[in-house]
Order: sequence, then C-alpha cells, then structure tokens
Amino acid sequence: MSVTVRVPAKVNVQLAVGAARPDGFHDLANVFLAVGLFDEVTVTPAAELRITCEGPGAAQVPLDGTNLAARAAVALAERYGRTPDVHIHIAKDIPVAGGMAGGSADGAGALLACDALWGTGASHVELLDICAELGSDVPFSLVGGAALGIGRGEKLTVLETGGTFHWVFAMAERGLSTPAVFREFDRLVADSDVPVPVASPELLDALAKGDPDALAASVSNDLQPAALSLFPALADTLDAGRAAGALTALVSGSGPTTAFLARDAEAARQVARALSASGTCRAVRVTAGPVQGARLL
Ligand code: ATP
Repeated sequence: MSVTVRVPAKVNVQLAVGAARPDGFHDLANVFLAVGLFDEVTVTPAAELRITCEGPGAAQVPLDGTNLAARAAVALAERYGRTPDVHIHIAKDIPVAGGMAGGSADGAGALLACDALWGTGASHVELLDICAELGSDVPFSLVGGAALGIGRGEKLTVLETGGTFHWVFAMAERGLSTPAVFREFDRLVADSDVPVPVASPELLDALAKGDPDALAASVSNDLQPAALSLFPALADTLDAGRAAGALTALVSGSGPTTAFLARDAEAARQVARALSASGTCRAVRVTAGPVQGARLL
C-alpha cells in the first residue's frame, strides 16, 4: 500500500526582512501565495527509511537523513513511538534551491503522507507544530492558499484572496543557498537602520480584491538586492519579463527563480514566450495561484 501527497510551491509576494536577531534568525513579514507547481511525495512501507527522487535538479537533492521529507517522517514516528520504516519517493517539479520552498513542500508532503499511511490521526494543529519545527516555510506548504507569516515566517495567518493571479516563473541555470542570501542581506544592510518588518496594507488589500494591477504595485522582496548581488545575471531575466509586458517582475524568495505577474492567462503565455526566447533562463513555466496546500491524492 502507498500514499501519495501533492504539494505546491510558493512565491513570496511580500518578503520584509528585519535585522539579524542575536540568535542569527531574522524577523520576517512574509506574504506567501501557493502556486500551481507541485512535487508529489509517495510513501510505501519498507524495511528501513529510504529516499529516492526524480525530476529536474534531482541530483542536487540529498537522499540521506538531512532531506526534509526524511526529517518529517522521523519527527512524526518519534511522536508516535514507532520506527520511520518507509520508502519516500519524491517526484520533483519545484525547482531545487530555487526560492520556491521545494524542500519545505517535500517535508509537509511526507508528513501528511506518513500520517495517512500509519493512521496516526494527528490533529491539524499537531501537524502544523511539527512543520514549524522542521523549518520556517514548512507550515505554509501544508496550509497553502495565501497566508501572512511572521516570526521566522512560521506563525501563520490565513489570508482571503478575491481571485486567481496569473504568474510566469523563470528557472535559473543554478541554485542559490538561502543562508548565503541572508548573509549577503546582512552584509548589504550592515550600516543601515533596518525597519521592523510589517505586512503592507495595500498588498493585503490587493490580494483580498484579487486585483493584479494593485498587487503588482505593492509586491516587494527585501532579499532581492542580496540575490542580485550573488547572481547579477538575474537582472537580465527581470528586464526581459518587464519588456514582455509583465505587470511586475521580482525574485521569488531567496531566488534565483524569478516571478512575473500577468493580467490574465493569455498575457502570461505571452510573457512566457518572450522569456523563453530571451535566452536568460533555463526553463519557463506558466501557472496561477492561490492553490490549496498539501493534499492526499
Ligand atoms: P526556500 O524557498 O524555502 O528558501 P528553496 O526553494 O530555495 O528554499 P530548496 O529546494 O528547499 O530551496 O532546497 C534548499 C536545500 O535544501 C537544497 O540545496 C538541499 O540541500 C536541501 N534539501 C533538503 N531536503 C530537500 C528536498 N526534499 N528537496 C530539495 N532540497 C532539499
């Protein structure tokens, strides 16, 4: 018997980053939107914990105990006094180290899949708790839709959205390490007063209304200068998408995936064609959000 869970990627429509705290983490005001790029996580009973992975970038995914999917299975098994004896197979479509929370998605997916396979009957709150222990972005992967995350991003408030937003994502030739991007952020802001991160009322209003023009006018990503500093060629991808008529162009999370908002599905296809022809990225995907979080197939 196997259980498969489908989990979406995210884009941060706002990522406000505070100064580094004494513990090294940063306070965030993080507005997540789940979008229609998915990993599928399948768990099957096995003699011992084992991970396999297929899809673009699979070679970069660790297959040992550091994989977030493995850590999720171990965390749930420990709580319920059992051994995590499962084969976890990850069919990857979310870019690896792409700023779209691919690893977090696999963590949330494995957690939900193991919960179903083992019949643990953990409550939603308990699952969210384990997610928060696994990483700042993992609770959102479970919940999906749109949400504001504060603290390290893990304290979530669900947001209502008034419509579907059309996006184009441009995948880069290589990944960026999230900790390295935060270190670069710290270096770039070293001599400035970093404001306390707060969610933008205009942005929350644009999401609630489902208004793409208002959303385009209010998106922001404080990690973008750091990502561009480490990966300057991303500026060419952003320019190519803007020139093709995107309402706005931004780096997704810590990057290097770039995100382009379009007014409708046809406009998104047009931006995607121009980006593909620009030669400034590895691959281009058209999708929409919000979509629901991790769910059993
Ligand atoms: P985020 O947007 O949450 O900052 P990301 O999308 O930039 O993350 P991930 O794809 O989650 O990046 O990968 C970051 C690193 O995490 C990888 O380089 C890899 O070493 C490690 N990792 C652990 N588990 C996984 C997993 N299941 N899938 C991909 N990477 C994983």
